[in-house]
Amino acid sequence: MSAGYAITTYKIQLNYKHLDWFKQTQSLFDEALAFYYELLEKQPEALSLSNQNLLRHLELQTIKQRDGTPPETPLPFEKIPLYFRRAAINAAISMYRSYMSKLRDWQEGQEKQIENEELRIENSGTESHSDSDINQIGNADLFQHSPLSILNSPLKKGRPSKPRRLHMSMLYYKGMYKDFDEKSILLKLYTGKTWAWVKHRYTGRPFPENAELMSPTIVIKKKKVMLHIPVKEIVEDSRTAKERVQQNEKFVAVALTGSDSLAVCTTIQADGRATAPYFIKGGKELAHRRKLLLGYTKRGVAENDMTHTVGDAALSVPQEHRPNKKYYDKITRLTDHYAHEVSRKIVDYALKQGAKLIVLPELKESFNQAKKPYLGKTPYDFIGRRIARYVQYKAWQQGLVAMTSKPYYASTRCYHCDAPIAKHNTEYQNPSANFYGGKNFVCKEGHRGSTALNSARNLGKGFYYKFYQGVA
Ligand SMILES: [Zn+2]
Repeated sequence: MSAGYAITTYKIQLNYKHLDWFKQTQSLFDEALAFYYELLEKQPEALSLSNQNLLRHLELQTIKQRDGTPPETPLPFEKIPLYFRRAAINAAISMYRSYMSKLRDWQEGQEKQIENEELRIENSGTESHSDSDINQIGNADLFQHSPLSILNSPLKKGRPSKPRRLHMSMLYYKGMYKDFDEKSILLKLYTGKTWAWVKHRYTGRPFPENAELMSPTIVIKKKKVMLHIPVKEIVEDSRTAKERVQQNEKFVAVALTGSDSLAVCTTIQADGRATAPYFIKGGKELAHRRKLLLGYTKRGVAENDMTHTVGDAALSVPQEHRPNKKYYDKITRLTDHYAHEVSRKIVDYALKQGAKLIVLPELKESFNQAKKPYLGKTPYDFIGRRIARYVQYKAWQQGLVAMTSKPYYASTRCYHCDAPIAKHNTEYQNPSANFYGGKNFVCKEGHRGSTALNSARNLGKGFYYKFYQGVA
């Protein structure tokens, strides 16, 4: 059996006596970060080194050798603890890498634009990620580089600028903290003159038993000091999807839609039958609440003011540059809330059905796909991706596996007879094969029903034949 684990970030609030010591420590950290960032700027070619080698390379240039050889560019601070310095170097490396990669993307984008003048990239959209509960997932070749990650290619207008502020919350490696128990932690802090071990009590939800606590990050927000601690939990029963399928267990197939039923699930039994349809609603309500918020974003923006993009179109502008930013933030939080709800319901459904595997449609994120009106234009496109991503995390934490499968013909063929289907919303409409939003379908054999359920069943059917054939 393969070992699996899930990493969840716990946030605890520290009680402190000396807020200024945290601030002193943070500002020293930022100064060291800036020093290394600027050193890196002088040698961008060094980015070809691995992070570990780059760290050593930078230390050689700035720290006195064991044999007493002075460095070329000495670090201008005395008595900085080793692991504090390393955290600052790693922060500088990560900020510089991130900036350089944005710059490279932008340059490549410029080249593409010249090649492809007429290609109008419409509203590819951007949403800020909020991975607040979940950082990463282990042992998951299946979805570590998941195709489901949220589209992260906003319309880039100008050349990306250097980070305005060289700042990052401090990662505290071993050596910077100790005696971490269920009530308190000792942190090494800079008082402005010297380093001191300071005990802090804290509050927050208890850590799970038998979990491994990883290095905390100190996050200072105004007067609040938080510790963010990645907690690594071993997940039992982490057999791979293939092993599960070989044991002919039942599984759940899911369709994600842009209609009121945000997700539709079915359970495929070991003999291939699709059973127990389950509709998870909320799409209408979400659309309504989004519409209200989008309305608010237009407040106070003159109609003839062409410098501001408003409404849906503004979703392609980076969030911090939009007028009425707080309403966009609300929309992001709202979408996130629904994505969490729906993904939790999907995982609960799978648990209730006794299934160990959840199959989701593989959602492409290429521009071509994003331009198709039925896939890319609505904000639901994003909630679908987000739901799928959350299902993967939540499933893993429950000892279930979630994976994606290509939804070949899932939405164009009848599950019962494979004939092409036509779609419609009401009895008064003429069913049409090209009506992508149509909630109901009918085929020439007279089968009819919910389009989304048909898609979920087809996804399950395709997956069943692909993996079960010759396996029994
Ligand atoms: Zn049919």
